[in-house]
Amino acid sequence: TLEKRIIESIRDVPDFPKPGIVFKDITPLLKDVELSADITTALAEYWISKEIDVIIGIESRGFIWGNALAQKMKIPFVPIRKKGKLPAETHAFKYDLEYGSAEVEIHKDALREGQRALIHDDLLATGGTAIAAAELVKISRGVVAGFSFLVELGFLKGLDPLRKYSNDIHSLIT
Ligand code: 5GP
Repeated sequence: TLEKRIIESIRDVPDFPKPGIVFKDITPLLKDVELSADITTALAEYWISKEIDVIIGIESRGFIWGNALAQKMKIPFVPIRKKGKLPAETHAFKYDLEYGSAEVEIHKDALREGQRALIHDDLLATGGTAIAAAELVKISRGVVAGFSFLVELGFLKGLDPLRKYSNDIHSLIT
């Protein structure tokens, strides 16, 4: 199954980016051309029948299949980036991390009022990043139509806080 192929290809890297964290490295998925294409197809199969106007990808691994999915669905792709990376005028949203804070941005002209946006990232952990993306969609007067991930770390309960934005939350593996 696709699920099994993804699980077998993800590389666990212990103590990255800091001691005690086991990082799920998705770069091996990209070396397997067929698997990478099958992932895009599976994402599209789930989302194609839904009312989605635009795919929002979160820097930087959310750009990879986010844009592939947008191309497959023939809808626009919009990047959300860390502070200071987007060149034109932006909306910003600041959020707390375990230690310190982070800030993400979206171009002010990226969304039109009422557009239905699907937020995509490679992996859901605590949900903090996805929530920040959802807040940027709201600041942009868009509508959060759903959340899409390759991997959801079930033990971190990142799903629950997303439900106040959209109940349509899809992951290829948990
Ligand atoms: P959260 O905000 O849900 O706690 O963390 C999710 C964000 O951090 C995503 O943008 C994701 O790319 C990144 N991230 C956190 N842990 C991992 C991991 O183990 N593997 C990968 N590929 N990304 C991670």
